[in-house]
Amino acid sequence: MFETVCLDIPPLQAVAGSVRLPGSKSISNRVLLLAALCEMAGDQPTVLHDLLDSDDTRVMVAALAQLKEKSNETKKLFLGNAGTAMRPLTAALALRGGQTGGYELSGVARMHERPIGDLVDALRLLGCDIQYLGREGFPPLKIGEPKLKLDAPIRVRGDVSSQFLTALLLALPLVAAQDIHVDVVGELISKPYIDITIKLLARFGVTVRQQGWRRFTIPAGSQYTSPREIYVEADASSASYFVALGGLAARVDKPLQILGVGADSIQGDIKFIDAAAQMGVQVQSEANSLTVWRKDWDAASGQWSKSTGFLRAIDLDCNHIPDAAMTLAVMALYADGTTTLRNIASWRVKETDRISAMAAELRKLGATIDEGADYIRITPPSLNQWRFASIHTYDDHRMAMCASLAAFNPAGLPVRIEDPKCVAKTFPSYFEALFSVAQTTSKNIPVICIDGPTASGKGTLASLVAKQLGYHYLDSGALYRLVGFAATQAGVDLDDELAVATVASQMLIGFDADRVSLNGSDATNDIRSEASGMLASKVSSYPAVRQALLDRQLGFRKLPGLVADGRDMGTVIFPDAPLKVFLTANAQTRAQRRYKQLISKGISASIDALCADLEARDARDQSRSAAPLVAAKDALQLDNSNLTIEDSVAQVLSWWSSRFAPSQL
Ligand code: C5P
Repeated sequence: MFETVCLDIPPLQAVAGSVRLPGSKSISNRVLLLAALCEMAGDQPTVLHDLLDSDDTRVMVAALAQLKEKSNETKKLFLGNAGTAMRPLTAALALRGGQTGGYELSGVARMHERPIGDLVDALRLLGCDIQYLGREGFPPLKIGEPKLKLDAPIRVRGDVSSQFLTALLLALPLVAAQDIHVDVVGELISKPYIDITIKLLARFGVTVRQQGWRRFTIPAGSQYTSPREIYVEADASSASYFVALGGLAARVDKPLQILGVGADSIQGDIKFIDAAAQMGVQVQSEANSLTVWRKDWDAASGQWSKSTGFLRAIDLDCNHIPDAAMTLAVMALYADGTTTLRNIASWRVKETDRISAMAAELRKLGATIDEGADYIRITPPSLNQWRFASIHTYDDHRMAMCASLAAFNPAGLPVRIEDPKCVAKTFPSYFEALFSVAQTTSKNIPVICIDGPTASGKGTLASLVAKQLGYHYLDSGALYRLVGFAATQAGVDLDDELAVATVASQMLIGFDADRVSLNGSDATNDIRSEASGMLASKVSSYPAVRQALLDRQLGFRKLPGLVADGRDMGTVIFPDAPLKVFLTANAQTRAQRRYKQLISKGISASIDALCADLEARDARDQSRSAAPLVAAKDALQLDNSNLTIEDSVAQVLSWWSSRFAPSQL
């Protein structure tokens, strides 16, 4: 239940640094196979950089590893739901043979519903031995030894899936003792994908002769040769968000660099950069990277204009870049007039009806939209027409990624993205990538402070709220516990304030998921004992120690936001936090919770002793002169003695919702 349902993005202003995008799936699986075929033919291994790590590439890697093993038995390859593995492997293994027991290729149930008959028919005409193990025309398949006849032209249908042609083109160089012709029957669909195949073949030493999109010839004597090293391009549609970002956000220092895709790209969607350039984005293409910046950025003064209209409105036929064109629709919010995107009827039959989805969400942001069967026309909001919006994403990864660009609005309003996890379809780490380059003032980055006495349940509540919001989490108590532990370990006298403060400023700490490390060693369990809590309470009363930990705590304030728990989060560390909660529970309840916790860890305890300890620590935390435990004046009180953890989380989230988007939802 506690996963990010909404992502609240504060207003963003600038971009800095570089971002590496995940690889393209189509290219990844093609080069994996090509590299393996080179090696099987006795050539050197190929080093593949930036390969996509996804389900489909994993099954390909596993299958290729299996093919390397020496055995005479039937090789059974499981290919999941990866069409980009099933089709080319069928063709390559059927033409190559060489396995005494033959091969069996299967996949998940859905794979067994995806047709492969046209490819099998073409391969059988070439003398391949392929049997259906289940339904005629579908995997699973059994592949035996071929008796090749390569004289007649091969005919393959091009109007069902371009993968059949790709599979043949990838496999035929294995047996090209003579010219081999492949004729396409029917109108070839997805031509850019065939282009990718042909370009990759060329990188591996095979030049396909092409007569339009009708006849493809593998020349006699073609042989795979390893390029030794190959870079898998990033997905060009994924790059579009960062091209847009570079063009609409102010830049800090150097322009934004997008690594993994560039001028040498073989993907159709790379043409997006021409459209972006038409809108005024400054793009410099290197072979395998792009550098982008906003045209009105004045490097000399370090200033950028807060006015709208620094991009140019365009009127464009987007048929050649249907996916990336969605990014243009959001960029249009920053343009100097009305933008029209035409010939985009296919948007209506994608993950959702993207024309009406885009129209609805851009209207929420304040834009004026006109939509038709195959176009969308966007008039940007003027500065005071911009609105806070909770963006619905329609289980469409591209809607979510596009919407994040609205956070750069000149009105300085935040944006809420519903169901942000839908980006996993093509770019699971999209938001991490965005926040690694996006910048805003520290004041803009929201902090939710949860302060309160020992064992009031702050840690549990704060970490769950952080998880639900997709925000960072600071357990400030752990820092004081680490100081106590580190000082004891170093043999420092705990009564020597300055010596303890020196330990505090020098310790090397790491927080990773639920683990805490000190100077490279795991310290998670060491700092959780009652004794270390008492040590923490002692060292935390030293002003020099508190000062030494100040910057470390401020450093946790990172995009998209922070939930911090402790004693003085709202009063001292983040006094400007937009939401402060003071969490309490009566001592008896807290002692009982702590008792259960300790018993469940196999540590014996007495409720009365725990209660007395808690009261002693409360008294010390409240009465110390440095940052005593008190509720901030603007904190909301939450007594959770009689609340479940779900109730407490819901309460904090509901307070947060009204703070983040005041009176606008
Ligand atoms: O919250 P936790 O029990 O882990 O904190 C350990 C001790 O660290 C507390 O008893 C308190 O004395 C100190 N502390 C503090 N200021 C904070 C967090 C914890 O003084 N912000």
